[in-house]
Amino acid sequence: MAEELACKNCKFIISHGNRCPICGSEDLTSNWSGYVIIINVDKSKIAKKENIKTNGVYAVSIKD
Ligand SMILES: [Zn+2]
Repeated sequence: MAEELACKNCKFIISHGNRCPICGSEDLTSNWSGYVIIINVDKSKIAKKENIKTNGVYAVSIKD
């Protein structure tokens, strides 16, 4: 697994840099597991449940 980081705030997975492009948070962690790809945020039940508003790849679970 590559050293991808997940945003602790919105769970977006960041493959480059150290800042979340979605919410601007710099509170990232490599301690996450599983991922979900949101390609149609308006119709996705997962996106609604997780309060995701932007298409992309998100971590399912983040451990602190
Ligand atoms: Zn974020």
